[in-house]
Amino acid sequence: MNVNQSGLCINGVFRPGAAGRKIVQINPATEAAFAEVECAEVGDAAEAIEGASKAFEGGWRDLAPGRRAEVLFQIARLIREHVNPLAEMECRNIGKPIGDARDEVLLGARVFEYYAGGIGRFYGQTIPVAKGGFDFTWHQPMGVVAAIVPWNFPFPIACWKAAPALAAGNAVVLKPASQSPLTALALGKLALEAGLPSGVLQVLPGAGREIGEVLVTHPLVRKVSFTGSTEVGVRIMGLASSGLKRVSLELGGKSPNIIFGDSDVDKAAAGSPMSVFANTGQDCCARSRIYVERSVFDRFVEQFVAASRALVVGDPSEEKTQVGPLVSAGQRTISETFLEESSRMGRKLVCGGDRPFSKGFYLRPAVLVGVEPEDRVWREEVFGPVVCIRPFDDEAEMLREVNASPYGLSGSIWTRDLDRALRVSRLVESGVLSVNSHSSVHVEAPFGGFKMSGIGRDLGMHALEGYTELKNVFIAQN
Ligand code: NAD
Repeated sequence: MNVNQSGLCINGVFRPGAAGRKIVQINPATEAAFAEVECAEVGDAAEAIEGASKAFEGGWRDLAPGRRAEVLFQIARLIREHVNPLAEMECRNIGKPIGDARDEVLLGARVFEYYAGGIGRFYGQTIPVAKGGFDFTWHQPMGVVAAIVPWNFPFPIACWKAAPALAAGNAVVLKPASQSPLTALALGKLALEAGLPSGVLQVLPGAGREIGEVLVTHPLVRKVSFTGSTEVGVRIMGLASSGLKRVSLELGGKSPNIIFGDSDVDKAAAGSPMSVFANTGQDCCARSRIYVERSVFDRFVEQFVAASRALVVGDPSEEKTQVGPLVSAGQRTISETFLEESSRMGRKLVCGGDRPFSKGFYLRPAVLVGVEPEDRVWREEVFGPVVCIRPFDDEAEMLREVNASPYGLSGSIWTRDLDRALRVSRLVESGVLSVNSHSSVHVEAPFGGFKMSGIGRDLGMHALEGYTELKNVFIAQN
């Protein structure tokens, strides 16, 4: 099957947008345009939402969970069958290293499998109410869910919103970012091929400010599931409030990586570069501020820098590449601006920060030391390959500084002391943490942020709660 699609996926048909506008796709590794997709207009978005609502009421909502699961398993099977074309598509579209792209496609398949299996285990309760009788709860689908996703992990995030929403019986209108619509359209195609009824999954590339806001405000949309920047998340929450729409928001981060003196410093230093430079730093979970206990600071920095220098930066279509280009020239400029500002302030760039090739939006992983807590680069999300490392002396003071961030998405703690691991895990204000590891995302576990990093949880059985309303039914007994 050819998974390349350029039309809007509305009511089972891939078709041009009403105004004939196109979104040009640029390969970040070559800076060359290589594809065009249709750009949805306001009218297209309204048609997609109305079609999704009809598909919801016309059968998907009422289909037995086991039948919905069969379709989801089928989607997963087709994703697995098409892992290579999908990975190549993502690699070309956003410069993602091909090995990572393949892993992310397979993650998407696992997400569909998880929710296909999970929906039959998403139990309600029977409640012994004081009045007697029989009282029970039902998880019911909401209706049309708008899933608005970013460009940094386009395929897995589209899957981890669509799969639980569909498993629970909702219809989904998926809006990919303009920079990365190709695998979302391919998912629309695979879902139709798998037997998902027309209209149950609509895919609409288009401008966030235009059709994104139609999705957020349209009266037929019951839930907005958004992953993207905190700035847009705040705007979406405001817009959704007048209709009291349910929202879940997965937003930005500035995650800490905390290295205690009693940890396996060699292991922490060897693994930490990819906890911030993977996906060229364009990762909401990037551990971009590293706190190292002073007793091991020099040793850690030396090893971290050596491991960062050894990363293979290059053509994302080559298997050996670990760090590809940034998604766009603009995204690279943001990182370079942070680095220029740090240089003006006399901060020390220990390695990287230069452009290794004349073509492509590449930037070599940059390591800064000597930064101060008030520096913008230490406080703000860079969303590029830039990390800062600072020493700390006192655990409590370090934790105060960690928690002073408005963000609270992810983070790592490196220590051999179990008491400390548990104490610090409890005190760090973030939704996801790993100890002696940098793993943030598990299909089976909840993922999301505290504070300005978001509201609600993706993944795990928790996500199903976010795509359902809880109904209580009481049956009187004579
Ligand atoms: P973005 O907020 O600019 O865009 C995300 C999506 O929202 C895109 O589809 C965009 O078209 C749409 N959009 C933009 N303006 C809109 C509006 N006014 N109304 C409705 N939709 C609108 O973010 P981005 O640049 O694509 O992604 C980078 C950001 O995403 C970073 O801040 C990153 O930390 C965050 N992110 C968070 C997570 C997480 O799970 N917490 C995961 C990945 C990325």
